[in-house]
Amino acid sequence: MYDWLVVGAGFAGSVLAERLASQRGEKVLIIDKRPHIGGNAYDRYDEAGLLIHQYGPHIFHTNAKAIIDYLSQFTDWRPYEHRVLASVKGQLLPIPINLDTVNKLYGLSMNSEELQRFFAERAEPVGEIRTSEDVVVSQVGRDLYETFFRGYTRKQWGADPSQLDKSVTARVPTRTNQDDRYFTDTYQCMPALGYTRMFERMLAHPNIHVMLQADYRQVREEIDARRVIYTGPIDEYFDFRLGRLPYRSLRFEHRTLECEQSQPVAVINYPMSEPYTRITEYKHLTGQTHARTSITYEYPSDEGDPYYPVPKPENAELYRGYEALAARARDVWFVGRLATYRYYNMDQVCGQALATFRRINESLPVARSGEALAASAV
Ligand code: FAD
Ligand code: UDP
Repeated sequence: MYDWLVVGAGFAGSVLAERLASQRGEKVLIIDKRPHIGGNAYDRYDEAGLLIHQYGPHIFHTNAKAIIDYLSQFTDWRPYEHRVLASVKGQLLPIPINLDTVNKLYGLSMNSEELQRFFAERAEPVGEIRTSEDVVVSQVGRDLYETFFRGYTRKQWGADPSQLDKSVTARVPTRTNQDDRYFTDTYQCMPALGYTRMFERMLAHPNIHVMLQADYRQVREEIDARRVIYTGPIDEYFDFRLGRLPYRSLRFEHRTLECEQSQPVAVINYPMSEPYTRITEYKHLTGQTHARTSITYEYPSDEGDPYYPVPKPENAELYRGYEALAARARDVWFVGRLATYRYYNMDQVCGQALATFRRINESLPVARSGEALAASAV
């Protein structure tokens, strides 16, 4: 008998499995329906021997020292600052929009103050910023919005920015200086040997048993566990009884090319009419040297694995119904991007899992099987 069944071996599930086993000495079974651990952060060596991210580019960034410190128990880091270019009108321009983006796009040579005036003249006043369209047009005006955001967002989400919550495009700032980094967090780095290796080390505890290709819906009757951490889609857990929560999916096309480098930065965004949203070249992220190079095209889709919760008011409302059911479920904790229906980055999921562990630890006595180990744990 296990003290805990953890459903899903991504960041949420793996952090909790690791904490419960190492700090409370409890016996944990962690399952995943996929044939690997790591969730969407899973990386692997492809046939050419290049390290690729199976589910698209994952760049680690956070302002929380506690999260870096926690993960550093399981990995060393490779410093890496992410830079992205957008392919528009025959040019590759920095995104987030900055001074160089605007100068190159319009053939101008403004300084930062002039760019501030340029934005102010074009920005459209919006009473209350509610949507993803409002966020951008109220800062930079309609032309830049249509060039960089409208097409990309329509492709990515299958919805116009005016239908999406402001939080979606608000992820991408606007700058009047030349800073061309995608993120400005204090810590920006990649696990030195990859994410999968980091997850292997997290789960390499004698009290953790990993079972892959095991779908909770199929195995739950056979598993004897006192408590459950659930990190899959919350609507699925409740058999969709309130209706389906929409998730956006992606199709990934991985290719290996016969050249050492195919693009100047790790990610190029395609906000125009191409059917894909972005192309990633992994060597920039991993620092790997190799005669060939591997890239991934991302094609957004409604079908397929659930990758993104869709931030719209009606979906938030439906989620609140599931959240109320979850609050009444006994001995089950819902954690992670799918189980709490939040568009969270890896560090946020890691933080949410660590906070859940603290709550569990404060409110539940350690199971008998773990008493000896928990007493000796730090
Ligand atoms: P997941 O990683 O989705 O793990 C959930 C696991 O549960 C999955 O492995 C799934 O197979 C399993 N599961 C589901 N249902 C069942 C079931 N019934 N039975 C058994 N197992 C089940 N974040 C960043 O910080 N930086 C980035 O650059 C970044 N890039 C991203 C790019 C893409 C294309 C995507 C989709 C996401 C990106 N993210 C990024 C977000 C990041 O992937 C998530 O924050 C993180 O992986 C969430 O971890 P999780 O454990 O909540 O969910
Ligand atoms: N976005 C856009 N154009 C871009 C980059 C982003 O319109 O060149 C919008 C799009 O709606 C996207 C959102 O901003 O879904 C958030 O971008 P981010 O790069 O954070 O997306 P993720 O990496 O999470 O897919």
